[in-house]
Amino acid sequence: MTEAPVVERPNRRPRPEIDPDPRPNAEKWLIGVFTGVPILALAAAIPLAWGRFLGWTDVLITAVFYLISAGGITVGYHRYFTHGSFKANRPLKIFLAVAGGMAMQGPLITWVADHRRHHKHSDKEMDPHSPWRFGDDWKALAKGLVWAHYGWLFNGDRTSKERFAKDLLNDRDLVRLHRWFPGLVALSFLLPAVLGGLLTMSWAGALTALFWAGLVRISLVHHVTWSINSICHTFGTEHFESRDKSRNVWWLAIPSLGESWHNLHHCDPTSARHGVLKGQVDISARIIWMFEKAGWARDVRWPTQERIDSKRAKQPQ
Ligand SMILES: [Zn+2]
Ligand SMILES: [Zn+2]
Repeated sequence: MTEAPVVERPNRRPRPEIDPDPRPNAEKWLIGVFTGVPILALAAAIPLAWGRFLGWTDVLITAVFYLISAGGITVGYHRYFTHGSFKANRPLKIFLAVAGGMAMQGPLITWVADHRRHHKHSDKEMDPHSPWRFGDDWKALAKGLVWAHYGWLFNGDRTSKERFAKDLLNDRDLVRLHRWFPGLVALSFLLPAVLGGLLTMSWAGALTALFWAGLVRISLVHHVTWSINSICHTFGTEHFESRDKSRNVWWLAIPSLGESWHNLHHCDPTSARHGVLKGQVDISARIIWMFEKAGWARDVRWPTQERIDSKRAKQPQ
């Protein structure tokens, strides 16, 4: 006798911000392989002892490629291409696109479109990766954390590049580098291997560098970037007024090169510096500062004290 309620299917509504062409299953499989293989590789490596399969050369090459690829994401994909927090000359623009591609987080314009959608709808329904997607009780949040960290990569909805990244689509250099993403991934593995081989003059050196500075490094960069989407939208301190759940997380500041000062970032997205308070280390801001000093970056949007003060969260009385 009771009528079944009419269930609104949200995905039947017209969604102009979503590319009408859904992500194919083959691409989802590829994402699974891209992200799963490096972490499995790391787990397999744990029993291997220092000196046998890991030496100082590997540590050095891993550190260098971590800095290049993670910096390519934080300074390049994020602060420059997504938010325009400074202007770069053409060689620097190309270098940043190449370095970001080497982090294996998807082609440039896809990354930028997703991230701009994240800012427009942060922690709301259309946010591609909000940990609050399923609700705010502990079960929903646990599920949401997995979603924000990793699960969202497998979502069929692709952000419309036309709508969110028209400026990049109009840049021929960037469209080309976007298309060359598979080549940049290959480079990200080949370069460490070649360097490892040359520095040790051995095949074994090439192989261990490929493993540590290739696979293991990629996995570390992945999880640190994903932690910004999961941990920095759930835990941490709200130093600034923002309309979402973004937070500052101090213990991720060094590995994330300053990106974990995420509460300030949502409050002032175009700022070239995210760690603006005393003691908030922001390596990406320091890198941008060096590019500015070298004359490769200009019009850097450094935050003024006045601006920072105006955005501080009101302290409870
Ligand atoms: Zn965010
Ligand atoms: Zn951002």
